[in-house]
Amino acid sequence: MKNTTDFSKYANLSPFELKDNLIKLAQSRADRVMLNAGRGNPNFLATFPRQAFFQLGVFAIQESEMSYSYLNEGVGGFPIKAGLTGRFEHFIRQNYQTPGVAFLGKAFSYIRDQLGLDENKFLQEMVEGILGCNYPVPDRMLTLSEEVVKSYVLEQMGAQYLHRDELDLFAVEGGTAAMAYIFNSMKENGLIEKGDKIAIGAPIFTPYLEIPSLNDYQLVEVLINSDPNLNWQYPESELRKLEDPSIKAFFLVNPSNPPSVKIDNKSLKIIADIVKKRPDLIILTDDVYGTFADNFQSLFAICPKNTILVYSFSKYFGATGWRLGVIALSHDNVIDKTIRALPSKTRKILDKRYSSIVTDPENLKFIDRLVADSRAVALNHTAGLSTPQQVQMVLFALCEMMDADQSYKATLKTIIRRRAASLYQHLGLKHKTDENNVDYYTLIDLEHICRELYDDKFAKWILKNKNPSEMLFRIADEAGVVLLPGKGFAVQHPSARASLANLNEYQYAAIGLSMRKLAQEYYDEYKTKSK
Ligand SMILES: *Cc1c(COP(=O)(O)O)cnc(C)c1O
Repeated sequence: MKNTTDFSKYANLSPFELKDNLIKLAQSRADRVMLNAGRGNPNFLATFPRQAFFQLGVFAIQESEMSYSYLNEGVGGFPIKAGLTGRFEHFIRQNYQTPGVAFLGKAFSYIRDQLGLDENKFLQEMVEGILGCNYPVPDRMLTLSEEVVKSYVLEQMGAQYLHRDELDLFAVEGGTAAMAYIFNSMKENGLIEKGDKIAIGAPIFTPYLEIPSLNDYQLVEVLINSDPNLNWQYPESELRKLEDPSIKAFFLVNPSNPPSVKIDNKSLKIIADIVKKRPDLIILTDDVYGTFADNFQSLFAICPKNTILVYSFSKYFGATGWRLGVIALSHDNVIDKTIRALPSKTRKILDKRYSSIVTDPENLKFIDRLVADSRAVALNHTAGLSTPQQVQMVLFALCEMMDADQSYKATLKTIIRRRAASLYQHLGLKHKTDENNVDYYTLIDLEHICRELYDDKFAKWILKNKNPSEMLFRIADEAGVVLLPGKGFAVQHPSARASLANLNEYQYAAIGLSMRKLAQEYYDEYKTKSK
């Protein structure tokens, strides 16, 4: 049956409007389910740290009920410090067979034996934290929670050589909140001004192309384009653009989204060299996918003085609904130096801005300015991530660190890579991959498919005669599969982005088959027309 839908009406839609229309089309038939491979939300999640969370909650409630128990009216008190550890150890022994309880016991030992932290204070922080009975104090992050998560972040970001005492964390409501906070505080603190240049590693997550050009910031974007022919690494000539002293900051996602490739060692070296020449360059890196990569090294590990690191627990732990992320910044960093060197007029204004918080606002660190700005400064005393959220974050971090044979990581990698293999097998192509690939997403390049399945002439004909969003709409219409256009992510070739994290293997097979069928149809059309 020939498809007669008119696709031209979709030509000028924004990426998000396009997505909404694709979903509508894919849902339009009652006789099939929609496959939405456009979303980044994973369909797997970590169960052990969640079991531990709920069991810790059971224990914490028992502790709370020790107070006011004579009233027996659903009123409890704050946990009692005296004897807390003993009662906890008893709880662990009594309930050892209950899923999550053994984990808690092991975590308690890991805190003491491996991380060298005070296990009694830690327990108190966790029990009070999970009850959510106090404002988060310190507001930036609970003290021992910060130490645990620092260890996790340093390990996962390939920065083990740094010591926990050399950096600070700010616990936030996910990576995207982190970005909103950072842009706002950079503006408030004169680090970026209207008309300044900001370099953006492309292709990139669509909203990150939109933030800098908002009326709030009015920054000029300079794209640093990665090259599909280099398996999405940045060519040296692109990276060298960063040597331009008028570029204030380099904003990137690593491993990237959508190509899902980590920056290779050669490019890391080039960036380190650029930073030597440009010690003032601010690097803002979103490394949410770093935990999925093999032997990952963040730019935070390479250039710790220049880099603001954003990490999110959303993807790796399947925890988008929890809203968990951190911002990391070294004590010795260029941002604080730049603020101290601002013109005295600007510094006076800033001192006034932060004078309600500290007596010496000129020494207030950028990371603490982020905390204050996140609550319009005046409400600084209620800033911070909710304490139960911090407890779950700590349990996620501990789960990964205590997993000595990396079994969770290995399982996730297997799930994702099998899906990629299934998609490409059914498409009839070889899946190109190397050690830098993460495969959380895959970019299906239209021209590449046509060339590999047929020939170069046909690939050129496709580029000339077919609108790439037509491919997306036909796939949505005919197969009920939603893919996002690569173009919205500043991909330069016509392509579609599929997430490999949110459908099951057989569904990726269906996507592959459907695209192959479409290519076949296009080829038949091409043959008829070129007769
Ligand atoms: C999914 C994703 C995130 C996660 O954001 P949260 O707010 O933590 O859920 C962050 N950055 C990128 C590039 C992503 O793709």
